[in-house]
Amino acid sequence: MNCKEAIDFLGDYLDGALPWRAWLVFHWHLAFCRDCRRYLASYATTVRQAQALRSEQAGEAQPVPAELLRAILAARRGRQDH
Ligand SMILES: [Zn+2]
Repeated sequence: MNCKEAIDFLGDYLDGALPWRAWLVFHWHLAFCRDCRRYLASYATTVRQAQALRSEQAGEAQPVPAELLRAILAARRGRQDH
């Protein structure tokens, strides 16, 4: 595994969705690659911050996604009419 492959695995790794073989190879790479360890640390921090932000917002009313959905549906309906 090279660094690019390791970084491709990062998202799945943090989701816990990595198959055990890939997980093992990923950890093997991390054991030897300081760059990827550093990258993983900063990536994990970013993901945690994003999750914290999402859970903060979850308690509040969110009118935007519903509006967005309506706009998308309206746009699709408009296109089908033509
Ligand atoms: Zn690496």
